Amino acid sequence: MFTALARTLSPLAAPAAVLLAARLLLPLAAALPAGIGIWAPWVVLAGGGALAVAFGRGRVFFALATLALAYLGGRNWFAVAPDTWPAHAVLISISLFVPFNLALFALVRERGIFNRHGGNKSLLIALEVIVTAWIGLEHRAAPLELVAQPFLPRWLVPATPIPDAGLALLAVGFAAVLAKALIRHSPIDAAVAGALYAFAVAADASARPDTFGLYLLAGAFMLALGTLQDSYRMAFRDELTSLPSRRALNERLLGLGRRYAIAMLDVDHFKKFNDAHGHEVGDQVLRMVAAKLREVGGGGRAYRYGGEEFTVVFARSDIDDALPHLEALRQAVEGYRMALRGADRPQRKKAGKRRRSRNGKTRSVSVTVSVGVAQRTERLDTPDKVLRAADKALYRAKRAGRNQVARWP
Ligand code: GH3
Ligand code: MG
Ligand code: MG
Repeated sequence: MFTALARTLSPLAAPAAVLLAARLLLPLAAALPAGIGIWAPWVVLAGGGALAVAFGRGRVFFALATLALAYLGGRNWFAVAPDTWPAHAVLISISLFVPFNLALFALVRERGIFNRHGGNKSLLIALEVIVTAWIGLEHRAAPLELVAQPFLPRWLVPATPIPDAGLALLAVGFAAVLAKALIRHSPIDAAVAGALYAFAVAADASARPDTFGLYLLAGAFMLALGTLQDSYRMAFRDELTSLPSRRALNERLLGLGRRYAIAMLDVDHFKKFNDAHGHEVGDQVLRMVAAKLREVGGGGRAYRYGGEEFTVVFARSDIDDALPHLEALRQAVEGYRMALRGADRPQRKKAGKRRRSRNGKTRSVSVTVSVGVAQRTERLDTPDKVLRAADKALYRAKRAGRNQVARWP
């Protein structure tokens, strides 16, 4: 229960730490020489941008571009000419455009930077800059007064220079992006949620340039961190099953002590299964098997070895400790009936009808798995040897008729 909660909230750890650090550094920021205070956000924005380009993260890149323009506007007007018309215009404009862009870019799919989708995002940003410049430089008060109209009940709104429309966008965008971050367990979305929060603090403090700069820096820093965390996750998590990947397994093997057992697990007749039900149903089955594997007891940790093969590592256990849990796992998979809906539903209506009429209302499918397990011994004295022994045991289980657990030797 507690671990599930911790797992759900874990993507928020980094953004929360950055926000806390920003809060603690606030007194320092004011004491910094002006030059550093002005340039530090640029350095972090540019560094984050470089990371986003390196990893092809358009969602991050254009969020950073938006923050950079907000910083440019704020730098030029809040600090230099506060209480003037352009400063007022810039604040209202960024308090609308920044939450809109950040939330929009976070909620759409990742589609890279240097392509049509990146072009559309650039166009949106360019339009926003043009509108802001037109309003600010041409003294177009009317459209601005219109969007700056208060409409929220006063008791709900804190005293802030951010207009109601900006507050509403910030709140809605933050909630939506936060929800996506928690559901998808995604560091980049968590970073965007954090950046929205940081931007709200920055815009609220537009009259204090140090605070404004520091919190924009914090937002950019979160996005850079989120990009790094996301690439780490991509390397060490299997995309289909979201189990740790082969690479994560290899690192785990290097860290094992003197007592451990390793199990290899393979789905039975999976090629036939794919042929009969299609690759998509096959993928669904692999996800189901992975879900059972994640819950394996006895301290076992499951990895996707590749294809329809999985590895379970039992650190500080031997075969006798692991066997009952592997047997329970085998039975759990055998007993699971997967209803065919969703992904399996035929694309064409006719085919669907044909299938339904042939097979009754809903069909269900099931699979079995074979498991081989070995432990560290005098002779099998490296994880590699133990793993290969487990593989031999697995093939013994296959030859003996599948849907069973075999041990080595
Ligand atoms: P056995 O009981 O001997 O293990 O038979 P098998 O058919 O499972 O063994 P084989 O290794 O010949 O076939 C493995 C099949 O697993 C081949 C491939 O179609 C399927 N497979 C591997 N990876 C995936 C995947 O990511 N998704 C799907 N749907 N199928 C996969
Ligand atoms: Mg296989
Ligand atoms: Mg197989």
